[in-house]
Amino acid sequence: MMAASGPDAMFVAGGTDLYPNMKRRQQTPKVVIGLAQIKDLCTMKGQPKEGMVLGASLKLADVTADSRIQRAYPAVAKAAELISTPLLRNMGSIGGNLLLDTRCNYYDQNYEWRKAIHFCMKKDGEICWVAPSSPRCWAVQSSDCAPVMVAIGAKVKLVSGSGERVIPAAELYNDDGIRHLNKRPDELLTEIHLPPVNGWRATYWKLRRRGSFDFPVLGVATSLKFSADGTVEDSRIILGGVGSHPIEAVAAEKVIAGNKLTEEIIREAAQAAYQPAKPLDNTDFAMTWRKEMARFYVSGTLRELAT
Ligand SMILES: Cc1cc2nc3c(=O)[nH]c(=O)nc-3n(C[C@H](O)[C@H](O)[C@H](O)COP(=O)(O)OP(=O)(O)OC[C@H]3O[C@@H](n4cnc5c(N)ncnc54)[C@H](O)[C@@H]3O)c2cc1C
Ligand code: SF4
Repeated sequence: MMAASGPDAMFVAGGTDLYPNMKRRQQTPKVVIGLAQIKDLCTMKGQPKEGMVLGASLKLADVTADSRIQRAYPAVAKAAELISTPLLRNMGSIGGNLLLDTRCNYYDQNYEWRKAIHFCMKKDGEICWVAPSSPRCWAVQSSDCAPVMVAIGAKVKLVSGSGERVIPAAELYNDDGIRHLNKRPDELLTEIHLPPVNGWRATYWKLRRRGSFDFPVLGVATSLKFSADGTVEDSRIILGGVGSHPIEAVAAEKVIAGNKLTEEIIREAAQAAYQPAKPLDNTDFAMTWRKEMARFYVSGTLRELAT
């Protein structure tokens, strides 16, 4: 159906992102192809020891309720649990969450609002209102599960009429508010491959205004592997909500590599992780405060995993 419909078609799973965007005419597909009835996309297979495969249309509520996910992939369960409200978690899918459109205060408005400012570069306009001299869009990656999937080293399977490919979750994202996905429109996300747990421990911390529901304005996903003596053998620290893609805090990973997580090392790593967080003034809260909070959230995740 997608191959026959061409570029004007889009897939829809739960519709909790696409339908509001269509109402605001941010996304205007002529054909919408529903995935909800494809049973193969709603299965969960495998065991944490060998790795698990999540069908892309699995509801967020089903992911959080699964005891294997809760036990072996607590960061995935926590990120999914923190998304929106129970109603939306009963509709929204894990695949739709990973493919969520990027967000911006100048874009997530109704058509008339956007028309009144002559639109913006992301849709129908020419200028970026956040950074008027910028040649690119800085809309924000706002999925809770995306940084977690990158941190735990998950992979995604993309299928189209011309074949299929499995890529690391990190490679699904581009640092660009408009072309934020490294995925062709005709490619269907079918599976999310969670790696074997193999000693890794991960967590996710989310900053938002309302604890009951809100998109993240900062999300920190940290995944660590410890040696038997408690030193950090390997790590991935990923920042969400502060750029157009999940950002890896490489300098912070270097600080903790081969070290025990003492207070001094945690402070040094948090300082290093704070540098790549570059929030702009296009979501909730003052950007300088959001950047500052990256330091606290990274140290919080490290302390949690150290205990
Ligand atoms: C009030 C409100 C609050 C929200 N809060 C949060 C939040 O706190 N955190 C958060 O992360 N999200 C939040 N969301 C966004 C959304 O509810 C979730 O991200 C949800 O998981 C999206 O899944 P979906 O199945 O509804 O996606 P859809 O709307 O069906 O699809 C989203 C995008 O993915 C594409 N797509 C979906 N499935 C596939 C597939 N298998 N293959 C290819 N393309 C596909 C669609 O074409 C579309 O572009 C919120 C939404 C609302 C309305
Ligand atoms: S970052 Fe700029 S171009 Fe992108 S959505 Fe916001 S205002 Fe539009």
